[in-house]
Amino acid sequence: MKAARSYDVVVAGGGIVGAACALACAQAGLSVALVERDVFGGGATAAGMGHIVVLDDSEAQFSLTRRSQQLWQTLSAALPPGAEYEAPGTLWVAADDDEMAEAARKHVYLRDREVPSRVLSSEELAAIEPNLRPGLAGALLVMQDVVVYPPAVALHLAQQAQSLGATLLTGHGVTHLADGEARLDDGTTLLAPKLVNATGADAPFCTPGLPLKKRKGHLAITDRYPGFLHHQLVELGYLKSAHSLTSDSVAFNVQPRRTGQVLIGSSRQYGNEDPAVDQSLLTAMLQRATLYMPSIGALNVLRVWTGFRAATPDKLPLIGPCPEDPRLYLATGHEGLGITTSLATAKLVADQLLHRTPAIPVEPYLPGRKQAAHD
Ligand SMILES: Cc1cc2nc3c(=O)[nH]c(=O)nc-3n(C[C@H](O)[C@H](O)[C@H](O)COP(=O)(O)OP(=O)(O)OC[C@H]3O[C@@H](n4cnc5c(N)ncnc54)[C@H](O)[C@@H]3O)c2cc1C
Repeated sequence: MKAARSYDVVVAGGGIVGAACALACAQAGLSVALVERDVFGGGATAAGMGHIVVLDDSEAQFSLTRRSQQLWQTLSAALPPGAEYEAPGTLWVAADDDEMAEAARKHVYLRDREVPSRVLSSEELAAIEPNLRPGLAGALLVMQDVVVYPPAVALHLAQQAQSLGATLLTGHGVTHLADGEARLDDGTTLLAPKLVNATGADAPFCTPGLPLKKRKGHLAITDRYPGFLHHQLVELGYLKSAHSLTSDSVAFNVQPRRTGQVLIGSSRQYGNEDPAVDQSLLTAMLQRATLYMPSIGALNVLRVWTGFRAATPDKLPLIGPCPEDPRLYLATGHEGLGITTSLATAKLVADQLLHRTPAIPVEPYLPGRKQAAHD
């Protein structure tokens, strides 16, 4: 039997959320072990789009995304080139008058909270994104939204934590995470007064009974076409599809990569935990993209993949102590916003561990909050 090692905090899961938590704890002077079963940034973090986006589905969602976006801005100068931090902004594309009304509402909401945005007419939209189909109603441009390459950021954050003294452990999964003890599948025991479950959509394996469901998504990436598009483009109808808790959905959501590649999304699906590509959903997703950008259909798609978002019933993550085990903290349930909200999540975890006053109220994200069951 191996001798147990002791830390102030053990973080399970080396995706972007766990890596950010490990770094925030190390920056606060805590001794940290970060345990990753596979590779840092390899889970949903590698599957995600890397769109750092402010959303306003609820005040709590806005607070977390906006706070995180500000933390991304601060971090950006220290990121390595591989993180591919770019600031193209988001164009929320309106197909009709109803969606233009939604663009206008969103603009006022963001303006009132000092987030720069601008409503564009049909002609202005066509001028800045000529590959969109003619006749769209217009768009809302949200200028400060950015794009990153998430796995490279996760690795960077883990390495930064290591440079501050954190221990990085890979190749072995955590099989037990409770009561101040993390046990690994090679027999290693790590002791810590505080544990953090940041294992993403797999979090119920270590903490059974969490209100989490896996929500499968598909992405496709093309060959290099520099200048094909200039902003993250998302249909305003995306919000409807992201909100649907029951049905499969696809939405037009495309992203320019620094390489000139076009990343095409996205789909949402419950009740399918098979990572295989679902050809019918993929076809529907690509057809949706072609509907908005007809010439996208002529681009060569090089690779398609899937990933799993960790979805909670109220669409807010679980950040804070577990009601059943106050020494165990959760940092999961980020659904389609975990890249965006990783940095603010990490600050909230560290603030709670150290009894510091957080920059935003933590209550909406506490795991003990009341939530209706998933549909
Ligand atoms: C198709 C798609 C598109 C997306 N696009 C965006 C986007 O544009 N913007 C955005 O903000 N978010 C996006 N997301 C969501 C985002 O990818 C996730 O919310 C985020 O990556 C979650 O990070 P995480 O660290 O919690 O989980 P993960 O990245 O899944 O990390 C969890 C880690 O834990 C490890 N692990 C699991 N079990 C164990 C164990 N027992 N022991 C040790 N390690 C373990 C896994 O190997 C994994 O590395 C998207 C997601 C998908 C699927």
